[in-house]
Amino acid sequence: MKTLKYDSTTGDLREGMVWQYHTGFDVNRRLGVETKYTEFVNDTSEFAYDCKINKEHQTDLRVEAIQVDVFGGHDPLGNFVNPTNHGFTIISPGFATRLRDSGLTGFDIRPIVKVNVDQTHSGLTRLDYLDIVGRAGNGSNRLVVEGGPDTCPFCGAVPVVCPGCGEFNDPCPKCGQNTIVESKDEIVEGERRIYHGFGNQPKIFVVEERDWDGSDWFFVDGRVGNAFLSNRAKEWLEKTHVFDIEIKPALLARKG
Ligand SMILES: [Zn+2]
Ligand SMILES: [Zn+2]
Repeated sequence: MKTLKYDSTTGDLREGMVWQYHTGFDVNRRLGVETKYTEFVNDTSEFAYDCKINKEHQTDLRVEAIQVDVFGGHDPLGNFVNPTNHGFTIISPGFATRLRDSGLTGFDIRPIVKVNVDQTHSGLTRLDYLDIVGRAGNGSNRLVVEGGPDTCPFCGAVPVVCPGCGEFNDPCPKCGQNTIVESKDEIVEGERRIYHGFGNQPKIFVVEERDWDGSDWFFVDGRVGNAFLSNRAKEWLEKTHVFDIEIKPALLARKG
């Protein structure tokens, strides 16, 4: 059967030039770090539909305002104060100041996070939203279909991975059939849908140098997206002892 896979092998791949990163409550748990944390209460956001091929494909979330409650008792305030129940990246005022002075690029620190209730009584009224504005193309471009072409397995009229934004055409916008099977348990006899078991979770991400705007903090869009750092940013985070971030290797596909 056809399988959607993430290609992390082709190209002139270099290590040590870009890094992927994660922050938040689960990361702190893994790192054994205990700091204050937030719970998401409310937000004012708007989805963007900027795909040039299909206007139904969601491409971005534009955040206007966020409300959170703060928890964590007497634990210190870390650099990242992400909600336990939402993917927003929220940072403390002290980290915001250091990051602004760092000379690094690719982010916008926005004072749009209102503290609804501070259960830790530390006097926090506001936090900052870390908006990553650096970009390096679309990660879904590295998805390949093994065992067949990247087209709807029923009508063949459209690619399964949208070349405009990386969203999956599931169901197919032409024939309406479901094109992708998420779990091996769902596979039926004579299955025509494409199995995407590995597609969303590459072991190691690849950043295309030709698509990278050169920012120190940047995002790769698409269904297979992630947040990344330049080596310069990684070294700054290490030098300034930012302890509540998990940094992992990624590969840079050099152009030419
Ligand atoms: Zn179709
Ligand atoms: Zn699209």
